[in-house]
Amino acid sequence: MQKIIIRALLLAVIVMGPLAIASTKAVLADQQKQSPFNSEHYDYVTYEEIVEHLKRIEKNSNRVSLEVVGQSTEGRDIYAVTISDPEAKGKYGKIQALRNKMFQNPEDAQNWVDKHPDFKVPIMIDGSIHGNEFVGSDAVLKLIERFAFENDQETKEILENNILIFNAIVNPDGRVNATRYNAEGIDLNRDYITQSQPETEASVKLLTEWNPMVFLDLHGYVNYSDEKPGLIEPTTPPHNPNYEYDLYSKWALDQAEAMEAEIVNNKESYETDFYQNIEGVHIPARDAASGWDDYPPIFAPMYAMYHGAYGATIEAPSNTWDGVEWQINSVMGALKFATENKDEMIKDQIEIFKRGINFQHPDHEKGFFPEAYVLPTDKVDPNSTLKAIEHLQQNDIEVEKAKQAFTLNGKPYEAGTFIVSMNQAKAGLANTILWDGEDISDDTSAMYDISAWSFPELWGFEAIPAQAEPDVQSVEINNIKADGELSGKGPYLIPNSSTEAVSLVNELLQNGGAVYKDTNGDFYVEDQPGSNLRTLVKDSGLTLDTKEIPAQAEPLKNVDVAILKDGGIWKSQSHSGTKIALEKLGFEVDEISPQQVAEQGLAGYDVFVYSGTESLISYQLSEANQPFGLKNAQQFETFQQQIDNFVTGGGKYIAVGAGASKATKTIGLTDVAIETGPRNSNGIVKVDYLESPLTAGYVSNDIGFVYNPVWYTNLNDQTLAASFAEADFFQAGFWKNSETAAGEAVIIQEKDKDVTLIGLEAGFRDHTSHLYRLLSNTIFE
Ligand SMILES: [Zn+2]
Repeated sequence: MQKIIIRALLLAVIVMGPLAIASTKAVLADQQKQSPFNSEHYDYVTYEEIVEHLKRIEKNSNRVSLEVVGQSTEGRDIYAVTISDPEAKGKYGKIQALRNKMFQNPEDAQNWVDKHPDFKVPIMIDGSIHGNEFVGSDAVLKLIERFAFENDQETKEILENNILIFNAIVNPDGRVNATRYNAEGIDLNRDYITQSQPETEASVKLLTEWNPMVFLDLHGYVNYSDEKPGLIEPTTPPHNPNYEYDLYSKWALDQAEAMEAEIVNNKESYETDFYQNIEGVHIPARDAASGWDDYPPIFAPMYAMYHGAYGATIEAPSNTWDGVEWQINSVMGALKFATENKDEMIKDQIEIFKRGINFQHPDHEKGFFPEAYVLPTDKVDPNSTLKAIEHLQQNDIEVEKAKQAFTLNGKPYEAGTFIVSMNQAKAGLANTILWDGEDISDDTSAMYDISAWSFPELWGFEAIPAQAEPDVQSVEINNIKADGELSGKGPYLIPNSSTEAVSLVNELLQNGGAVYKDTNGDFYVEDQPGSNLRTLVKDSGLTLDTKEIPAQAEPLKNVDVAILKDGGIWKSQSHSGTKIALEKLGFEVDEISPQQVAEQGLAGYDVFVYSGTESLISYQLSEANQPFGLKNAQQFETFQQQIDNFVTGGGKYIAVGAGASKATKTIGLTDVAIETGPRNSNGIVKVDYLESPLTAGYVSNDIGFVYNPVWYTNLNDQTLAASFAEADFFQAGFWKNSETAAGEAVIIQEKDKDVTLIGLEAGFRDHTSHLYRLLSNTIFE
């Protein structure tokens, strides 16, 4: 019924607008709905239509406030809708008073709850983080409509006890382009701990502002069975040890079953037989043993759990209006459950912060959490550490700096060294960002996604766990931004030490500056009259010392890079992480599709990067994937010929990861054996980086990251640049029988042509910035 109301209103909006605009809009909306990613041809409400609705609703309801909380990659507004009945116990129902207490004096906050039963709890509901899972935002719109205007008993009771915060369209570009990912090709629901994308940043800002008690993330489409279609979390094991999981699981399953009950009890609200015959919902924690876990903090609800929320992913059974109704019922189930149990639920949420502040973790072995982390800063290139400090602060984690010099475990640290005390409300989140992780290969049969993400190792900064609080006074940090500077008269040494350092090199080259590269991989620049060196260096954060340019250093030239574009095979863009890494390194990068390579070749490019699935060069793809690969056998041959011409003509070819390595062999650019581990394996590894221009700036025993691991055997005419370490090379993550790859080659280069294979995931989802320079080293070699 509500569906018809919304459609009728839409029509009204379109008719009222200028006719030309309305018809262009209609054509555009129609194009979006014909996208290969909407194969069901579901008639969803478009981004523009939702925005118009939200504005009208805000105008006509005294309960609703609409706020722009950020912009998408393509510049579309991201909207938060807050619904709270001002006539019921005051607009925000004392939550701000409680919120401050929660983090300062949690015990007081818990007592306060007993004395003020009339407070309202914040509940956050996110729509369609995966752009093509349309039903999420459609359900959100109908829920907003209901809570803005209805006055039935159920609505009133929910608004008396809760403040509803909707992130109505988490991924605007994804909805407009009908893609799962955002316009950068990043799956936002893998980006929560990294927060590399503006959409994730907006969502995290909203989350830390409200610190909701419940966090619901509306997705689709999962069906384990016809009787129990759809899926609602909590999950199967393994659970991340940084959670206070006992407090979460005390409520999470009951919350899910309350949603399930609402879905089943409202069978008459569905249109189709399939939905009318539903008997339940698949709840992984109850109905499965493994394979749907909440281990990594990369998913929105799991990230929210570190802020104490009862988080749940909700997967509708289908991309249909019944799917929307199903989502609405599930949310209603959760809202009723929260209304009934808010006092006890929020006291357990506050208990998490209490455990943090008091450093009492009854479910953890002593020593699991260190007392503090100490983060020293590199004088010449503080970029990685400062980026980490900023990240911690944005995530509600308190960071201080030492007032004086101090010693820890016999090692001296300077005044100004950063200290993250673990006696703080969100200690679990701090630890999940700063710890090394663990090897969980034997803990489960399957993992859903990554199993290791250590920021110190993958962003490349030091974070030393201290088992006792450092004996030094510390103070709050005000400004952490460091300006770079030139020391002496030059020429200057630019160390090959961070993404920012390489980016400075590229900026200088693009501005026509002369930059030289030494055989050890470091860079040198001379100040020329009228150059903007000083400004660029200031922005870079680097301190450049004067040093004579070594005789053997060679001038660098600005290069044009092409990367093979994955248009969306299996609804993802497998090249995106590497593309972002190259851009962060300052390279000018063009995406070029497999068909374009075949048709146009690579003239004008110096470097060609293949990073992504081997299916990119296939001509035998499923119908849905056909537009993204090659047309036929003949086009494959042309593609191969074009690459061959490029390499023969002096072009540089770089393959990154398992898929690209296999493809490189398929097109005949290498004859080594490409070995791969099980597909869902991933983790942090120890790597022996050998003396080579490709490994400049890395110590011999450094870190790497693998995802769908790959390594190379039967080397014959190749130079070895790096191999997995011999002993204990697998540090953290999930990779059964990883020992088969110990000591094996992982970065190699052909001797007779400029072809390099990098088995490590050097540019993984904008997270592995410590490894980005493996790409620039190869390009500048
Ligand atoms: Zn999804």
